[in-house]
Amino acid sequence: MTQPIPRVGFISLGCPKALVDSERILTQLRGEGYTISPTFDDADLVVVNTCGFIDAAVEESLDAIGEALEENGRVIVTGCLGVKEAQVRAAHPAVLAVTGPHAYEEVMSAVHAALPRPSEPFTDLLPPQGIKLTPRHYAYLKISEGCNHACSFCIIPQLRGRLVSRPIGEVLQEAENLVAAGVRELLIVSQDTSAYGMDVKHRGDFHGGSLIRTHITDLAAALGELPAWVRLHYVYPYPLVDQLIPLMADERILPYLDMPLQHGNPRVLRAMKRPAATEKVLERLAGWRAQCPDLVLRSTFIVGFPGETEAEFEELLGFLREARLDRVGCFPYSPVDGAPANALEDPVPEPLKQERLTRFMEVQSRISREKLQARVGQRMILLVDEVEAQRVVARSPADAPEIDGSVIVDGPWELDPGDFVEVEITAAGEHDLWAQPVTD
Ligand code: SF4
Repeated sequence: MTQPIPRVGFISLGCPKALVDSERILTQLRGEGYTISPTFDDADLVVVNTCGFIDAAVEESLDAIGEALEENGRVIVTGCLGVKEAQVRAAHPAVLAVTGPHAYEEVMSAVHAALPRPSEPFTDLLPPQGIKLTPRHYAYLKISEGCNHACSFCIIPQLRGRLVSRPIGEVLQEAENLVAAGVRELLIVSQDTSAYGMDVKHRGDFHGGSLIRTHITDLAAALGELPAWVRLHYVYPYPLVDQLIPLMADERILPYLDMPLQHGNPRVLRAMKRPAATEKVLERLAGWRAQCPDLVLRSTFIVGFPGETEAEFEELLGFLREARLDRVGCFPYSPVDGAPANALEDPVPEPLKQERLTRFMEVQSRISREKLQARVGQRMILLVDEVEAQRVVARSPADAPEIDGSVIVDGPWELDPGDFVEVEITAAGEHDLWAQPVTD
């Protein structure tokens, strides 16, 4: 008599790094012969990968656990909120197990204890690129876990621990498997991408018979050899970024840097315990743009950090006007449970935070609009995301999926998601561009 195949329901919350954790757990489950169930009531148990970054994420995670308990009754909790086991158990005493972020083995042990693995794993069910939660043509590639900084508004080092870089040979193998499986864009993620390999003193590792350093420049150069776009996220303005710019100028990796800068005033940056001083950042930006004029910069900022004065906020606006970044996200400061910044004096009143957010966005929206407008008439290569009856939604090298804009190509075109197409930009809106394919 054949054994029924055990079925696991799965819910993944949180950031791209958590998504990568989910992909690894799903890959392991499938590798061991479990089936992934699309519904909770049809599953033998449910794994909830939670986020615990801000209060709203904690609430969303606790709600998701409650829903899974209601619909299924057997729930294993993992991810960032898992670090606060007491809080999870206080809200939901019936959960079977609670593990923290990137605790793949512990999650698997909890699954094995609650739902024994099939006696003959169907290892051939496991595709070499693993199980992916993103569309088939792009994939997040996580290169390290944790962070060695101590930014005062952040609890990620408490949640995820200190920097641990993955061996470069393993990262490159995963990238090759993804590209062989049809991935056309690799999104490099970590808490601090430029610090890759610092924890192992950039030691060498073997890949394809050659020795290669565990270093972001070597990794970017090797990834740049693959037939896929390579986009770097969460890069800090360390001097070594200078070595990445020539790879962008040579079109080996995308001329795109996602660099969270958070503020433009040195005192506020010191209070935030951020690395890098503002003048140096502006100088560096100018140097990078001189070497690679197509460079696109995305960043995030916090307004209303405790103690931020009107003059310091004005300095931030001045920084924005000078830096002329392409895409910017801005958040009013919100205290995160357990973050050292909560103890700082002079909290900025909520209405003032909102007023500063509005002023910040007025300045930046104008810059972003002007930068988009300047692309009208340019030719560029797009990567197709979706094909609809009367239009194609695609992205240029300047647009990361989920966070940046799109390029819309009106009309029915014989294209598929994952195709590259050359276009001329015909119009610009607030966030998106419009284009026509180049036919000559
Ligand atoms: S660099 Fe700062 S904000 Fe980013 S994860 Fe590390 S401590 Fe948090």
